[in-house]
Parts: sequence; structure tokens; C-alpha cells
Amino acid sequence: MEGRRAAAPHLALFPFPLQGHITPMLQLAHLLHSRGFSITIVHARYNAPDHTKHPQFRFEPFADGIEPDQFGAMGILEMLSTIVDSLKQPFRSVMGRIQSGQNRVDCVVSDALAYFSRAVAQELGLPWLVFRTSSPTSFMFFAAFPSLRQMGYIPVQDSELESVIKEKPPFRVKDLPLVKTGESESFFQFIGEMVEATKKSSALVLNSMDKLEQPTLDSLRSEIPAPIYVLGPLCNYASGDSGSLIRQDRSCLSWLDKQASGTVMYVSIGSVARMDAANLTQMAQGLRDSRQPFLWVIRPGLVRSEDSVQLLDQFVEESQDMGRVVKWAPQSEVLAHPAVGGFMTHCGWNSTLECICAGKPMICWPAYGDQMVNARLVCQVWSNGVEMGEKLESEKMKNSIKELLMGEEKGKKMREKARLLQQLVLESMKTGGSSYESTSRFIDHISSLIPHSSDSF
Ligand code: UDP
Repeated sequence: MEGRRAAAPHLALFPFPLQGHITPMLQLAHLLHSRGFSITIVHARYNAPDHTKHPQFRFEPFADGIEPDQFGAMGILEMLSTIVDSLKQPFRSVMGRIQSGQNRVDCVVSDALAYFSRAVAQELGLPWLVFRTSSPTSFMFFAAFPSLRQMGYIPVQDSELESVIKEKPPFRVKDLPLVKTGESESFFQFIGEMVEATKKSSALVLNSMDKLEQPTLDSLRSEIPAPIYVLGPLCNYASGDSGSLIRQDRSCLSWLDKQASGTVMYVSIGSVARMDAANLTQMAQGLRDSRQPFLWVIRPGLVRSEDSVQLLDQFVEESQDMGRVVKWAPQSEVLAHPAVGGFMTHCGWNSTLECICAGKPMICWPAYGDQMVNARLVCQVWSNGVEMGEKLESEKMKNSIKELLMGEEKGKKMREKARLLQQLVLESMKTGGSSYESTSRFIDHISSLIPHSSDSF
């Protein structure tokens, strides 16, 4: 053991195999690597990251038995549980193999959803740290589920949807991070196990910054015994694009080069959420009626009904002079492009942070889970965006686009707020800034968990 400490401390990072989880884990890996750690990414073959884009890391892929199209019509909860069940045994095997070989690791940093990895790390005598990739506020709500159930907010009553949760303003009952198809006991059990495991971790790492979610962070620090480190936004350490699982259509960047500054509406609802034909029609109509140029991501499988494909083809044909439709965009670069004036988003946490880093305002159209919480943060706490109802209405969408891009009152304020948040991000990453300092403390903490690791720093 002593001899091994001549090399840099070696961390195994274990991402959950979904786009919104892999990207920030790779970003964390880049940050830790830049601070002197050796990194091995232990990952499922399902949704495997592209090794060639990260030559500085070792990769340990494992077979998981998941079929690429297995989750077509499945609800979110069923999908998550199936993935967890598929990863458990192979993860144990691969970690056993790593620890009996030449490239042993000193510590495991696991996605919070892969909470079963705690038992494996314990068996191998390794410290186990948790990285929660979504917003701290959504995690705070997960941790509060038992008390929210006791107080009667859950199960949710339709008549209470608009009511503000008086213990957690400004969040409403309808903002709770629930999945519509899965508010069953198994959902609460899954979340409960994740929260309890996280509480027993050696540290909790969060992708946010103090000035975005201070009250939440204070509350989490009083409830979670593990030390909490807030290091983000991690998209500053490696662009989301280097973690992309889908080939990005970069031709849209040259199209953006030809558009006037701040005029283009970028639209994407991420890698998992889907939409029905009615919302698709309203969205297409809203974009067309706004008469603003747009860049719209329609990934394969995004729309539920086959009939919509025809409708979409017709829309693309008719609106060629106004906008571009792509299957997958280089999102971070798109958001940072001067032509892009705003982002219509489902408020996945990575998309939300990427947009904040780009200093652009948002139209929020969350679908489920943490997205509802994130949308409320944007629209009510930070005021850098506006909310769309669950059912899209083209007229409201058209007006919101115009307001966001050109409005002289509400729109102007949202654009100013977006730029202010971008400044706060830059400050938090500088020496002395909250995320910079938290990163230094986190590195000291990991080093303290690894015997004699300070020898190598
Ligand atoms: N993304 C991308 N191209 C696209 C749409 C999305 O590269 O056309 C990336 C985006 O930059 C983000 C991730 O996919 O890093 C989506 O993660 P998020 O947490 O926003 O949502 P999820 O897909 O998990 O719902």
C-alpha cells in the first residue's frame, strides 16, 4: 500500500447511464483530474461515454444486459429501477476485478441514483462519496418527502396544485419533484433509499453554487450528516458537448453565424422527456407565429405519436427560411452563441446551468421530477425566465418568445437577471469565490480519506 502512494490518488467515478448524469460526472472528472487525481470512469456499456474524447482518463466498461431500445414506452420510475437492477451485479464484479489488479482505486465517487454502490465500496474498504447531478433543491425535496407526506401535501390533491407549500415557499404543490406515472410506494422507497445512503456517505458533492441556492444548502447542511461541497456549475470545466452520447449536428452553428445578435430562440427538451402531438402542434405554431428565427432540437423518439412525423415534416418544409430543426445540437456552444437570445427548455438541471453560464433567459416547460423544481427556481427565485403551462398554447408561447427576446419591461428584466447570474457564476469560480473554495476543501477532504495521500500532493 505504501508504495502505491507515490502515484496520484486514484478515484473511481461511477456515472448513472443517462445523458443528464454522464455529462456532469465527466465534468467533475475533468475538474478532479486538473487538481492532480487519477481518474477511472467505471461505466455501463448502455449509453457509454466516448472514451476518445477523454484520453486523460482510464475507462472500465461493464456489460449490463440493457437493450438500446428497451425503454421505449416505459415510465420514468420503471426505467430507473430497471437500470439500477441491471447495474448492481456487474458493478460489483468490475470493482472486484479492479481491486485485485494493478490499477486499484482509492475511493469511489458514485452518482446518487446508483446508491447500491455503497455496499460494494464498503466491502472493498473504500471511501464512498456521492455526486447528486441535479439541483440541490430537488434533493432537499426528496429528503423532505416523509415529512411532506405526514403534512398531507403528498399524495397530491388536484385542488391543491396551485397552493404554495408554506414550509418551502415559493414552491407550489405542483412543483414537487414527482414522476406522474410513479407516485407509488415503490417510487418513495427508491427515493428514500437514495437519500438514506447519501446521508451515510463520506461526502455529498453538488453541482450548483452558493448564490443560486443558499437557503436550500443551509437546510441540507442541517439535515445531512455528510459534509457537502458545492462545486458548480461544472459545465465550466468541460463543455456538455464532450459528454454527449448522441452525434451533434454542428451545421447549426454556421446557420447561427448568419443570424442577427440575440434574435434566435433555441428550443430543446433534453434527452428523456417526450411530447404528444397536441403540444408539438402548439409549439410549431407558436414558433412560426413569433416570426423569430429558431433552432429546434427534435431528437428521434421525442414525439409520442407516429402521425406527428408527417406534421413535423410539413412544418420543417414550410419554415425553412425561418429556422432550423436538428436531431441533436452542440447545446453549450449554441447557448453561448451571440445570435441566441433565449432558450425554451424542459429545465433539466444541466440545461438550466448551461443557460445560466451563457447568460441567456429561459422559457420553462418542465415535464416531470426535478424539472418542476428547477423551473420554479428560474421563474420565481432568480427571475431569469418565464413559465409555460403544462399544455402548450401557441398564442402564449408566441407572446413569451417576443417578450423574452425583445420585451422592454418583463423581458428586459429577465435578460438583465440572466446576465447578472452569469456574472455571479464567474465570481464563484475565481480564487476566493464560493465554488473555487469549496473545491479546494473537497480536495483536502478526499485526501484526508485516503491513507497517506497528502504525500503525493
Ligand atoms: N444536449 C445536447 N444537445 C441537444 C440537447 C441537449 O448536447 O440537442 C445536452 C445538454 O447540453 C445537457 C444534456 O444534453 O448537457 C441534457 O441534460 P439535462 O439535465 O438538461 O436534461 P435531461 O436530458 O437529463 O432531461
